[in-house]
Amino acid sequence: MKNIILIAPPAAGKGTLSEMLVEKYNYVHISTGDLLRDAAKSKTALGEKISNLLKTGELVTDEIVFDLLEKRLKEPDTLNGYILDGFPRNLEQAKKYEEMLTKLNYDLGIVVFLNTSYETLKKRIVGRVVCQDCGSVYNTLTGVNTPKNANLCDKCGGLLYKRSDDNEESFKNRYETYTLKTKPLINYYKEKGNLFYIDGESKEQMMMEIEGLLND
Ligand code: AMP
Repeated sequence: MKNIILIAPPAAGKGTLSEMLVEKYNYVHISTGDLLRDAAKSKTALGEKISNLLKTGELVTDEIVFDLLEKRLKEPDTLNGYILDGFPRNLEQAKKYEEMLTKLNYDLGIVVFLNTSYETLKKRIVGRVVCQDCGSVYNTLTGVNTPKNANLCDKCGGLLYKRSDDNEESFKNRYETYTLKTKPLINYYKEKGNLFYIDGESKEQMMMEIEGLLND
């Protein structure tokens, strides 16, 4: 399968789209945010440093991100095709990533930009809750994926929690960081000829459009 890079503002639907692709095509989903949240749980100086950076919505240093990503890409399951979610976040990361690909002998694949309105994004972030046991994602504001019980996962009964960075203040920060640092990637990949746009307002639409690209 073609490797996929998903570029989009926070909560544009990268996680949802990835989940659908994993289920249907056995893709490996690599979210640098998830890699960092896992690393932040370790009771070490590095874990604490990452945890503090995550709370503010600031980008974590490239050194930390590349170290975690390279370890993950070296696992053999990535050979069948993987989705990068949340990476690269800026031009420097995009360029350094290409060096890593050469080293690993992997293809860049396709780059997909998810187009979603600012208002939709804000509601998705402020209302988002996640199951602490199985990672399922729900929303209490958008009317889509509302959990039956506000505190419990419909699928496994696990407790639902709010990510520490899913609040309005942090959303504004993350959106600003995205506009300043990540958006320039759109032109970068457009010039390379790898960029495709898809509509991120509904999951059915996203899936239909991306399947068109994968079957091309
Ligand atoms: P996400 O789950 O993609 O929304 O990421 C959550 C947070 O993890 C971001 O606000 C950043 O602090 C950090 N993060 C995720 N991916 C990266 C990356 N590629 N480079 C730097 N920081 C990242």
